[in-house]
Amino acid sequence: MEKQSQTEQSIFMPGERKVAASREERILTCIGCPMGCALTVELADGQVAAITGSTCRRGDDYARKEVTNPTRIITSTVRVTGGTADMVSVKTRTDIPKEKVSRCVKALQGIEIAAPVHMGDVVLENVAGTGVDVIATKEIAVGS
Ligand code: SF4
Repeated sequence: MEKQSQTEQSIFMPGERKVAASREERILTCIGCPMGCALTVELADGQVAAITGSTCRRGDDYARKEVTNPTRIITSTVRVTGGTADMVSVKTRTDIPKEKVSRCVKALQGIEIAAPVHMGDVVLENVAGTGVDVIATKEIAVGS
């Protein structure tokens, strides 16, 4: 969840004339662990000026990345034919840009693979042009 506010402020730099800076504040919920700490990120001219609310380093790292280069690991399922189960769980091998998430999910909707499926098998290469493969995260044996 994210809230956002933006203000224009004048700030004085030592020995410099008055300059206008765009100040922005974003409120995030850290997803690093179940604690879900509320984080506040202050941005000045698009740069991270301060992060408050985190209780560990992971929160700071998450907040910084979330406002500058947000990414996600996608988990989903795809259909399996001829196996002991009809579906197999899959995930992106690494995180992908947040703006590509919906394209990734759509790309997986039509995928159907044949058993046997092994953990780590590539289900879809280069999903949504990200350069990241989607892999199986479960074993599915051939059905009888
Ligand atoms: S800041 Fe640290 S303790 Fe808080 S939710 Fe994130 S990972 Fe968990």
